[in-house]
Amino acid sequence: MSAVSHARESAGQPVPLRHDWSRAEIEALFALPLTELLFRAAGVHRQHFDPAEVQISTLLSVKTGGCPEDCSYCPQAQRYHTGVEATKLMETEAVLEKARQAKAAGASRFCMGAAWRSPKDRDIPKVAAMIREVKALGMETCATLGMLSGPQARALKEAGLDYYNHNIDTDPEFYDAIIHTREIQDRFDTLEHVRDAGLKTCCGGIVGMGETGRQRAGLLRTLANLPVHPDSVPINRLVQVEGTPLHGTEAIDPFDFVRTIAVARILMPCSMVRLSAGRQDMSDELQAMCFLAGANSIFYGEQLLTTGNPDTERDMALFQRLGLKPMQVHVDAEGHDHPGTVHADIIELPQHPQSCAA
Ligand code: SF4
Repeated sequence: MSAVSHARESAGQPVPLRHDWSRAEIEALFALPLTELLFRAAGVHRQHFDPAEVQISTLLSVKTGGCPEDCSYCPQAQRYHTGVEATKLMETEAVLEKARQAKAAGASRFCMGAAWRSPKDRDIPKVAAMIREVKALGMETCATLGMLSGPQARALKEAGLDYYNHNIDTDPEFYDAIIHTREIQDRFDTLEHVRDAGLKTCCGGIVGMGETGRQRAGLLRTLANLPVHPDSVPINRLVQVEGTPLHGTEAIDPFDFVRTIAVARILMPCSMVRLSAGRQDMSDELQAMCFLAGANSIFYGEQLLTTGNPDTERDMALFQRLGLKPMQVHVDAEGHDHPGTVHADIIELPQHPQSCAA
């Protein structure tokens, strides 16, 4: 049972999830006084989750940089001069070693990301081998590899993949301003292949890329109106990396970011709303407001495995100050996760969190 379905059932009755939001309705939510919007979002949060629990999520980059796409926010695009060195796909044994460390550190899920437009068919057996081996460690598996065909999605599912991350980036109306090497329909197609293969989805977007309020509403509308709400919704705040076209973009007002979290919580009440890229630059107070607005998942921006890691220590200190606790692991005999799963994977790409893996 997924976290989403369990949350629905644990609420005692089926939750009427909407998939027919209009842009005007969502803009009206954004226009509420912040105090009212936070109150409503916090109420929705409490109906479906323990508001004191936060899921922890990180990621291992198994293949970094050299991507042929032109996502304007991404330092892994080979056409931008960002100093990111392209690497080859990691060997399975090296990935496994990280997975073992992750498990020893308490992680129940291991997420693997590769900077590809889409994997080549010849890459699939290599990634499938990683998934199989990680799964054999008794961990849940998650991947983000770019666009997938139907057969590729099915092959990954057969290898034991549980989750697939594929963000829609931004509002369809704004897509052309950010990416020119694919269309948003390509993203929808991959999400469909992923759902059809029986994989759970992790899908969100990025704000602070110069989009208007209307377009921010459009991003959330597109996510909420997907045929199935994503299990996890990463909301990324643009990290401006020198050399990328979006470097120098006017930063999003922090309160508009909080509003985005709150509206995402209201529209997708049973999903994990994840504070992802850009969190490292947020003040403790801003993060606290995001938790109040319904964020219940965070993306670690540093290696979880490094003991004494200052970012990890800062997070734990913040949790303590706010009285929050990491969600606990509860995986049933069939390997299904339930709310409370510690989604603690590994990240090795802290300076490039805006890739499609975020
Ligand atoms: S976001 Fe993903 S697809 Fe886009 S350039 Fe970066 S690695 Fe490539």
